[in-house]
Amino acid sequence: MPTPGPHTTRYGGNTSCVALRKDGGDEQLVILDAGTGVRPLGNLLMERSNGALEMDLLLSHTHWDHIQGLPFFAPLAVHGHVVRIWGSKQGNVELPVILQQQMHPVVFPVPLDELATDLTVEHVEPGRFQIDGFDVSAMRVRHPASTMAYRLVPKGGGTSLAYVPDNELGPGGDYGMPENWRAEFVEFLADVDVLIHDAMFAERDLDRFAGWGHSSPEEALAVAAEAKAKQLVMFHHRPEHDDDTVDRLLKNARAKGKKCGVDVVAASEGMEMKL
Ligand SMILES: [Zn+2]
Ligand SMILES: [Zn+2]
Repeated sequence: MPTPGPHTTRYGGNTSCVALRKDGGDEQLVILDAGTGVRPLGNLLMERSNGALEMDLLLSHTHWDHIQGLPFFAPLAVHGHVVRIWGSKQGNVELPVILQQQMHPVVFPVPLDELATDLTVEHVEPGRFQIDGFDVSAMRVRHPASTMAYRLVPKGGGTSLAYVPDNELGPGGDYGMPENWRAEFVEFLADVDVLIHDAMFAERDLDRFAGWGHSSPEEALAVAAEAKAKQLVMFHHRPEHDDDTVDRLLKNARAKGKKCGVDVVAASEGMEMKL
């Protein structure tokens, strides 16, 4: 759930949304998840645009907190913009059906099919695929539903980024993964420059939330160190955590990160990083 209010003024209260922009020559834009953070992003893009926008939107999965902002993403309502959505089907339900039902007339005034933008929806399977300007690898992670981690690198090489918003690194839960899943996951993340990873639960709460599909900052840091990631971005803050609590978790994780050579930061509303 979004958690706006005086207790989240610094880290922000919107749900998952990250934008990745490749500058120089043709500018390319990738959006990772469409939680409520995609609404202010859409407004910003509209303000700055002087012509048709074109973008790829990668969905990790379709739990509410990752698609809730999509109906309010302003570029979808404008003729001439191009939006390509990528994501996994959930069980037998195809992604276009999930997105159409999110905007069914009983819950939303404008159906997906009536949006003005040039919209396509593509299914993603684990493995490699290409989007405009980037090579992408996808891997299934330990979270309810079919949830993808994405690793992106600009075509022709450059700084790499991995986006893993929801993932349980602890032993809880049964997600039908192979026994060597963790080794494969470390391989998937090997030497990544920036790892954005689920760090939702404080270490002391982990037992209580085993099987919920999330991790602690310490667990995220351990996998980052194992994979020799340069930087960890703590992501998917718990709705119950206020700014001061995230500060404390970050301070602790940063100190531990220093010992294993991983720089640690915590994602915050509007935060920008140059990769
Ligand atoms: Zn989820
Ligand atoms: Zn989530």
